[in-house]
Amino acid sequence: MKEGGGRKQGAASPCAACKLLRRRCAQDCVFAPYFPSDEPQKFANVHKVFGASNVNKMLQDLPMHQRGDAVSSMVYEANARVRDPVYGCVGAISSLQQQIDVLQTQLALAQAEVAHLRLRQNRCFSNHGLRPTSPTDKSIFDMDMAVDQASYGGSMWS
Ligand SMILES: [Zn+2]
Repeated sequence: MKEGGGRKQGAASPCAACKLLRRRCAQDCVFAPYFPSDEPQKFANVHKVFGASNVNKMLQDLPMHQRGDAVSSMVYEANARVRDPVYGCVGAISSLQQQIDVLQTQLALAQAEVAHLRLRQNRCFSNHGLRPTSPTDKSIFDMDMAVDQASYGGSMWS
């Protein structure tokens, strides 16, 4: 006893979800658009982590145009959970959060350094009556040395 004849469009193989659940894939199967039969692993992980009936309910509760995104995020979460049973996708989130913290600290230090160099530069210009140019990274360092030498009594400016 194969397919009873409920499907008229000749789609012989059930979707990956119905295949795994060993049930008949109805024509209005909620899984079929997102879990094609040629990607069995995609549903397997989602089923393992969320459970087929929960996924079914979550998709039913969403409007059609949001279901694709919901499936994508569930697949991502499920795959992350299978890879990392302890932290799942929270592992990726907290790693990114740490990177943000490190980069924000670096940015704050760089901004403080820029402010510090501008201050020294301005003091230097007002001491020597020079007009500011737009310094490149290199000339900032040259300036730094010049200021250091000036403070020991020598001057590179005249
Ligand atoms: Zn199906």
